Amino acid sequence: MATPAFLAIVGRLPALARILHRRQLLGMILALAAGVALTPAPAAAQGRTAPPAELKQITNDLYFFYEFSGSNAVFMVTDEGVLVIDTRTHPRHGQALLDMIRKVTDKPIKWVINSHFHGDHHFGNAPFKAAGATFVAQAETARIMQHVQPKEMARRIDGFKNLGLDPNEVKLILADVTFDTNMTIKLGGREVRLMYFGPGQQAGDTFVAIPHARALFTPGAFGKRSMPNMAFTPSVDSWVKLLEQVAAMDVDRILPAHGDVATRADVKELAAMLADEYATVKDAVAKGLSVDDAIKTLTFPQYKDWRNYNRLAGEIRALYELIQTGKRSYLD
Ligand SMILES: [Zn+2]
Repeated sequence: MATPAFLAIVGRLPALARILHRRQLLGMILALAAGVALTPAPAAAQGRTAPPAELKQITNDLYFFYEFSGSNAVFMVTDEGVLVIDTRTHPRHGQALLDMIRKVTDKPIKWVINSHFHGDHHFGNAPFKAAGATFVAQAETARIMQHVQPKEMARRIDGFKNLGLDPNEVKLILADVTFDTNMTIKLGGREVRLMYFGPGQQAGDTFVAIPHARALFTPGAFGKRSMPNMAFTPSVDSWVKLLEQVAAMDVDRILPAHGDVATRADVKELAAMLADEYATVKDAVAKGLSVDDAIKTLTFPQYKDWRNYNRLAGEIRALYELIQTGKRSYLD
């Protein structure tokens, strides 16, 4: 929590402000403790212990909420108000995020960006709607969010029940504003740039550059050393290409939708892994290997330490569907 940047900033403040910040820090710790109680623990089920959720201060105005076992969010605080990227998995998670923001600032919540259609990134929208935010999403994200809402709910309902969360509290909050390829939001003398490079993990994947912080938010298309979900992409080639494009951008920090803060080298590594996995499975299809035999023989041991390696069979099956039929049945 007390990142070097945070401590450096605190160190420069007068005594009174320092006390205030310590109080805010204590508030954040309390809020985080409350948030952790709502957190699922899939990593523990895999025999590992998930690190506790953590709010990282990236610059004096930019915060990264990192939750290994759930999903991440980012918020930027300005004199005019707050901009939020993604709202977590359930309205109660969204409320916990809003409470964290309120420990830092009482400025109005002006903007919420939903980075992609997966419910674990926008089912927390409702408290931000109540707070008066304007919602923005790429046009394809907005369309698919609406189209697959019942499926997105269905695949999370057991998780909600295990956590004692009421699925009926989830409300679909759609974008007020959509964009196709680029959009710039100016707020309090800062600007953020929303970018769509074409489909990655899915159509609508939105990247958000925060130039003054030399930071880039990445949607589901990137996770450091994380085996990608292959059920939604219409084109692995497009996905690899956009990751290579992102890896070449002039930024210092990658703030991903899942996993910890990363670097451009991590993005490049994922691009190479994706290209490798895709080429290997394409080759198996070309050789006439059945999907069940492919699952038995293609074990990709070089990625056994990556997150979600245990989902490999499902990913091979999803790639077979894409290569053999061109279809994405989840999106039907
Ligand atoms: Zn997700």
